[in-house]
Amino acid sequence: MNSSSMPSAPSPQWDPKTLIVAGGRPAHDTDAPVNYPVTFTSTYHSQGQAAAGERVYARFSNPTWDPFEEVLGQLEVADSPALVFSSGMAAIAAALNLVPAGGVLVMPKHSYNGSLALSSELQAAGRLSIRPVDIADTDDVIAALQGADVLWVESPTNPMLEVADLPVLLAEAKSRGVLSIVDNTFATPLLQRPLTLGADLVVHSVTKYLSGHSDVIMGALVTSDESLRQKLHGYRTLHGAISSPMDTFLALRGVRTMAVRIERSQKNSQVLAERLAAHPKVQAVRYPGLEQDPGHERATRLMDGYGSVIAFQAGQDAAQADQLVAAFELITGATSLGGVETLAERRARHASEPETVPENLIRLSVGIEEVEDLWRDLQQALEQL
Ligand SMILES: *Cc1c(COP(=O)(O)O)cnc(C)c1O
Repeated sequence: MNSSSMPSAPSPQWDPKTLIVAGGRPAHDTDAPVNYPVTFTSTYHSQGQAAAGERVYARFSNPTWDPFEEVLGQLEVADSPALVFSSGMAAIAAALNLVPAGGVLVMPKHSYNGSLALSSELQAAGRLSIRPVDIADTDDVIAALQGADVLWVESPTNPMLEVADLPVLLAEAKSRGVLSIVDNTFATPLLQRPLTLGADLVVHSVTKYLSGHSDVIMGALVTSDESLRQKLHGYRTLHGAISSPMDTFLALRGVRTMAVRIERSQKNSQVLAERLAAHPKVQAVRYPGLEQDPGHERATRLMDGYGSVIAFQAGQDAAQADQLVAAFELITGATSLGGVETLAERRARHASEPETVPENLIRLSVGIEEVEDLWRDLQQALEQL
């Protein structure tokens, strides 16, 4: 590397909200670009050397990944940079591959449906066996850890918004030699840093809050264990689920504004959750920021905010809940979450959703619009029920 391509060293004193803006930048040299360029290449000059350089081939490494991996690693307070993947599911597939052959995987029954579908497929193939747990029920999870190989945690869960007692579960897993993996997509490292609580590995769907604009599909893994990172890097190289340079550039561009996006969307979420809870046509609301929510005490103790996803039940059945989503004018009826725009979806429309997710449960991913416009839209749609 020449001096203009050396990264600026992040200051250990930087707050995470500063780190996302200032980390992963070229050094402050005259004429150095403020952002790293996007590198479109499939291979690297090796000058005929028998011992190739570090990059070799673009399935092994790409300089465009480096700043994003560095920033995400620092945000999760890891000793090593993150590893980017082509999607959250590609990262999850790499993580699930850590379960030894015939091993036992403890998994929340309300995990992201892709994680459930993939682990069920592995179970059907005889690769592993799943012990489903209620992740909010600490005793249930601890009992399931006996003789297990891997603990999978989501908190808050998608879409039920249950909150786990993360430090207790991770300590219990560690004391039993159970590898712990946390899907931190909902909370983001701004609200919760599982590696600091004892997790071995963190999984992200970068598609959501990290990139933040519903224009990228990408995933990441983060660990402080260098040998585990090497193993996962090897998996990524061999299985080939790498992130495209353009997507990685967009994700880094998106992460720059994550703190202000989350600040705003959380504020909107609190207002909307309170008003939904008081609305006569809404039967139930789950949002950890509500004082009456079963996850409120834990979320207050363990997280630096309550996030921006609300789950609520409205309408007598699936058809009425679908009608409600169809009646939105500003809010977009679409799957996914974590973007600047508010999205709503009846989750049980997916056949892969767990049966315990109510038919009329709507997941609202709250964006950064003016909250009164969002409320007007929710109100007019609810009044049509
Ligand atoms: C979306 C999501 C995933 C999957 O990520 P993709 O980028 O869509 O592959 C995994 N976990 C959670 C919690 C998610 O919300």
